[in-house]
Amino acid sequence: MSCLFCKIIAGEIPATKVYEDDDIVAFNDIAPQAPMHVLILPRAHVATLNDLGSEHDAIVGAIVRRAAAIAKARGYDTSGYRTVFNCNADAGQAVFHVHLHVLGGRKMAWPPG
Ligand code: 5GP
Ligand code: ZN
Repeated sequence: MSCLFCKIIAGEIPATKVYEDDDIVAFNDIAPQAPMHVLILPRAHVATLNDLGSEHDAIVGAIVRRAAAIAKARGYDTSGYRTVFNCNADAGQAVFHVHLHVLGGRKMAWPPG
């Protein structure tokens, strides 16, 4: 198993987990780009957004709804927050296990860099 995030899920590499259930895991990004920077991912390994199928629809929904729940718990639901799935090279995807970035606690620029 060479995937970094699979190793975190398995507990082989430490991370500050903020949520987990049977299907998804959320932990703090090691290099936070905002006061809140959480990554939410499926336990099952899926490399990129391109590899998602209809069998993943429920889990993707759970990831997105968990992002909203975590943002609300931190008090960012009204002020706002950013969610990002990077896919492949031009988007800067560095870890090839699908993950949703959830950033909040500062004003975000648009368009993104
Ligand atoms: P990507 O560029 O693939 O969308 O995002 C990968 C994210 O994983 C980056 O924001 C990076 O800081 C984070 N990351 C990389 N290695 C680790 C690690 O070992 N632990 C944690 N918690 N985050 C990591
Ligand atoms: Zn993985």
